[in-house]
This record gives sequence, structure tokens and C-alpha cells, in this order.
Amino acid sequence: MTVSVSRAMLQRLPELVELQRLAAHGGKGFVRVEELVTVTHKDLSLPVLAFEFGSQDPKAPVFFLTGGVHGLERIGSQVILSYLKTLINLAHWDYSTRNLLERVRFSVVPIVNPIGMYLGRRSNGQGVDLMRNAPIDVAKGGRAGIAGGHRISNKLPWYRGLEGAPMEAESTALTSYFEQNFSRSQSVIALDMHSGFGSVDRLWFPYARTTEPFPNLKQVYQLVHNLDSAYPHHIYKVEPQSASYTTHGDLWDYLYDRRRIEQGSIFIPLTLELGSWSWIKKNPRQLFSALGIFNPLLPHRTSRILRRHLHLLDFMLRSAASPASWVQGRGLLANSDDLERLARARWYDEQAA
Ligand SMILES: [Zn+2]
Repeated sequence: MTVSVSRAMLQRLPELVELQRLAAHGGKGFVRVEELVTVTHKDLSLPVLAFEFGSQDPKAPVFFLTGGVHGLERIGSQVILSYLKTLINLAHWDYSTRNLLERVRFSVVPIVNPIGMYLGRRSNGQGVDLMRNAPIDVAKGGRAGIAGGHRISNKLPWYRGLEGAPMEAESTALTSYFEQNFSRSQSVIALDMHSGFGSVDRLWFPYARTTEPFPNLKQVYQLVHNLDSAYPHHIYKVEPQSASYTTHGDLWDYLYDRRRIEQGSIFIPLTLELGSWSWIKKNPRQLFSALGIFNPLLPHRTSRILRRHLHLLDFMLRSAASPASWVQGRGLLANSDDLERLARARWYDEQAA
């Protein structure tokens, strides 16, 4: 891969420049890089890159990490970049990291929407919100406000695209990549990095389109139990996304439902929504910058955010590599009926007794 860098790219999309450098020089022997699609806007043309580490066995368990779906939310891509650098550096000398990667396929798309990030806006080049773009609606009786997706105009945020139109190039590329590469794996954890909502860091599981309980609740409960036990002081509020708001066109709901119907293997798509409101509270001037609503602007705060989430990414990679503990309930909580009941009590206001 050749790396040609214009001044505009360095200023407007340094994350992609760094990724291209990493692809060219950083992880020789450890990283496989693929260009999923080239997206264009006027005279701009940018790649959506996927990085793969570890096992190439199509049946291997998978950890799929994504970021930059919303172009304004750069901090998620920066956290991912920071983690990739850590992992590549460890893989050069640390046997336990190498052993870990033999048992798991770790696949990363750090910037799903490079045009949006370059232009400094949430949507892609066509003005479409990629997390409202899948052909899936909020369940009957449910409500989604304008932020939950609309078809009024691509001049407004949260635009879903035209009724009946194919999905956008970025969503299509991500869907094909996911389905072609991970269809034979028995367990997949996905984590999609976002920022901007609320004042705490939320870890969401599906659904976004309905308040109905998620079908793989037992596995989510066991996974979260493992997280709570290994990191009792972790900062994440774990909940179904619908506990915060419901949306049309969520790509993870879409991929989950398709995979469930076709295969019955376990897929847990998680979203990490970094709560930016606390950064704004500490530095109210951020409110006057579009980027400032979604990203920490002061360097010391950025460093803190980059450090803060590495544990979680590491936990997810390890969990993906050791699925027995959460997929079949062979963890500390063994009784499967109990898991379902405890999960419903914790997340859906149902009685545990
Ligand atoms: Zn987002």
C-alpha cells in the first residue's frame, strides 16, 4: 500500500493517515489489510480499510471492532488506533499476546465513514446517517423521534436515505465483509465505538428498534457478569440500547436478525457510547465547536479517554477468544434458566423471583 499524504489529509483526517502508515510499515507479519470499498464525494476519494489479526481459520471465534460510523465522533477511531498500536507492539515480543491471537480472529474497521470524518459531519458523503440506513424499522407501537431516523431531507442529521433504496456504499461494504468472512464462526462479538450521548459511558446491546428483550440475553448476562467480576470498578453502564432511545435502520439490529435467522450461531453486537456531556461540563467552551460535542478537545482529557477504554477492548478480545465461558454458560453462573431470569430482572424491569 502506498502512502501519499496531502496537507489537507493531514489536517482533516490524520487518523486515516496514521492507519495507512500502520498498514504500510507498522505490523509486518501480524496484520492483514483489506480495502473494503473506496468512497467518493466530489473530487475526494477515500478507502474504508479493514485490519485483521490472528487466526485465519474461518471457524475461529471473532472479535469485530468498528468506529467512525459517525464522522463527528473521532474519539472512537482514536481509541481504536491506540489499541491497535498497543497490540502490534505487544505482538512483537509478548508470547501471551501471540498465543491469544492464535485462538481468535480479530478484525477491525477503524473508520467506517472516512468522508464524513474528513468533512467533519455525522453523515456520509450523501448526507445519510449510516446507523439509520439499514432496511429495518422501529417495531410496531414503538416510537422514534426525528433523531431515531427520518426521510425528510439529507440536509438534516439522522437522515435514513430514500425509501426502498439500496443501503449506502459504506453499510453495504460492512455487511458484505461481515457476512462473507464471519458466517462460519460459531461466536462473534462486535463492538462499535460512538460518542456524544449522555454523561456516562454506556455499553449497549440490541435492540435499537424495539424494547422487546434481546434473544441472546443469557450470553450477554454471562459476558457482563465476567466483566463485572474481572473489573469490579469498571465505569460502564450496560443496558439494551432501547433503554436510552429507539431508532430505525440500526445496522447491528439488521446484521443480528439476518444472522440469527440464517444460522443460529451466537452474535453479540455491542455499541460503546462514550458519554461526552461530562467533557462539556468540565470545558463548556466545547459547546461552541461541532467536534467538541462529540470529542474531548483538551489534550490531557484525550489521553485519559485513550487510556480509559483499552481494558475494555482487551477484555472483549479475550472473551471472544474464550467463548466457552459465556456462549455455553460455562462460566461462574451455570444455570441457564437463572441467567435468563436475572437478565430480565436487571434490564427489563421483570421480577427475578
Ligand atoms: Zn454515533
